[in-house]
Amino acid sequence: MRIGIIGWLHESNTFSKKPTTVDDFYASCYKKGDALISEWENAHHELGGFIEGCRECDVEIVPLLAAAATPGGPLTNESYNIILKDILDSIKGQTRIDGYLIALHGAMVSEEYESADTQTLESIRAVIGSDAPVVLSLDMHGNITEKMVDLTNAIITYRSYPHVDQRERGRECASLLVNTLKKKISPVQAMRNPHMLIHIVQQYTGAGAMKKVIDAVEKASNTPGVLSASIAPGYIYADVPCMGAKIVVVADRDKRLAEKIAEQLADLVFSVRLELNATLADMPTALQQAREHEGTVALMDAGDNIGGGGPGDSTILFEEILTQNAGKCLVVLYDPDAVQKCAAAGIGQLIQLDVGAKTDQRHGRPVTVKGTIRVISDGYFIEPEARHGGARFNNQGVSVRIETEEGHQVILTSLRLAPMSLRQVTSLGIHPQDMKFIVVKGVTAPRAAYEPVCDLVIPVDTPGCTQAGPESFTYYKRPRPLYPLDEVEDWRVVES
Ligand SMILES: [Zn+2]
Repeated sequence: MRIGIIGWLHESNTFSKKPTTVDDFYASCYKKGDALISEWENAHHELGGFIEGCRECDVEIVPLLAAAATPGGPLTNESYNIILKDILDSIKGQTRIDGYLIALHGAMVSEEYESADTQTLESIRAVIGSDAPVVLSLDMHGNITEKMVDLTNAIITYRSYPHVDQRERGRECASLLVNTLKKKISPVQAMRNPHMLIHIVQQYTGAGAMKKVIDAVEKASNTPGVLSASIAPGYIYADVPCMGAKIVVVADRDKRLAEKIAEQLADLVFSVRLELNATLADMPTALQQAREHEGTVALMDAGDNIGGGGPGDSTILFEEILTQNAGKCLVVLYDPDAVQKCAAAGIGQLIQLDVGAKTDQRHGRPVTVKGTIRVISDGYFIEPEARHGGARFNNQGVSVRIETEEGHQVILTSLRLAPMSLRQVTSLGIHPQDMKFIVVKGVTAPRAAYEPVCDLVIPVDTPGCTQAGPESFTYYKRPRPLYPLDEVEDWRVVES
């Protein structure tokens, strides 16, 4: 039995001004054949889970292509077509493949396609035909479409946020596919749309209403006859018709059962929609709270959430901390020009330069820092633990650390990298507990990395292209009605 493995992961923010190109994938991850295996086999990622699951079932792995890039603006047409062609060519280059394990994000948008992932699945089906089974893994932040359900035999999404269960879900996908090929099961699936959004902070699966929902999803997946159950809260930073939370249930042969369980889960999530809403602390309130707290505080810069497509160079929160002169602060900013200047000056040199806020006008203004260049690094580091995103090999490009005269630590990177691993800063000689404030360019996902070293984590309502609530965005294409932006009394009424 030969199983083809494909991965193409991108979360595309339609409010971002920075289009994503094939070079962003080349810089982050673009692996074919055996290189795909060595990149992902030990990673806490669904691709690692695919590999492990196939090995457990003793089937042959056919590694085709895995591409991933840091979230950002939609893909240019040219880049989308280059990567799609590469994937299709890799399939055509094989004599026989019995089934496919595919890892997509679910919220990829290109200039041409509002759900680029749906288009990718359609294109793959056009090559492989309708008979070969396809099991699809998606990020919880995918905006799932009916067509994705039609084009696949089973969809499984992550079940934890921060995403630390990716490898486990990948193994499930592999087992489901192999059992389908052995004709032990015959998966059928149903999707339900509760016509709502779940606030990014409330999506945290460790507590509160979302934990209740996830517990119910787990229980549902163990119902006799059910093969898998998933909830995807969706992704609000893509203004597309498929935006919003979705439930997918996969059952063995029994479509009616899949529909019934999906409806029950939609009822549950809709019933706790008030609790799944949130308002974040504004900057003055968050800083006041942080100052009153003894110990290190992580301030989550919601408006510049790199994992949601933020530019990674917003200075808004950092500048406020400097103005208040409230304690030592660590910040990581994407600023390739400043990195070049520092690298030219050299380690140990005193430097003064303007950093950050160079991508657009929406994320503050450049801040002048004066300090000593302590470290210049190639920006590569390994994260062996299970962290959101599951990447083992990380690259933030050539990076420098400046220690300012006031004792702040400013790390400048030449590639955008979401803050999912503490090694992003410890590899440049930072001891996080020595800092009073750590500005983290994310909201919920970096908790897996930063909670162990911070006494308090405060999500801060900063402006930017990933501002936390949907209210701050003007949508043109999103579906209507959609709670909480519109009144929805009963999701079933909207559906019918
Ligand atoms: Zn996600």
